[in-house]
Amino acid sequence: MLGFIAHDLAVVKNVSDRIMVMYLGKGCELAPSAELISRPAHPYTRALIAPIPGGGLDLPPADTLISGEPPSPVDPPSGCRFRTRCPRASARCAEQEPRIRQVGDDHWLACHHPTDSPD
Ligand code: SF4
Repeated sequence: MLGFIAHDLAVVKNVSDRIMVMYLGKGCELAPSAELISRPAHPYTRALIAPIPGGGLDLPPADTLISGEPPSPVDPPSGCRFRTRCPRASARCAEQEPRIRQVGDDHWLACHHPTDSPD
């Protein structure tokens, strides 16, 4: 098994069987590459996929899926580290760090309000 680390999912999807999306050092979503690109559930994953040309998903513009600048990794936000930039953040996201859980065959997610849920 080889690991490949990059910030551009358009590149990563072409060289990887499975992708782990990380934000400020924490795992957000893990799935086979085709599954992750076609059915992203984490808000940060969606923000990374939105700008990919010909991505095949009807996503809103990336700047509506993520806002602001990354916080300092030495003083990360409480709860979910992505919450200061996430359009779906709630009070729960500030209080409780989401644990990674299985949401499908070999598909893992750390989010209180994934994008396929109504809340
Ligand atoms: S846990 Fe909350 S802040 Fe973090 S990605 Fe999910 S909805 Fe957004």
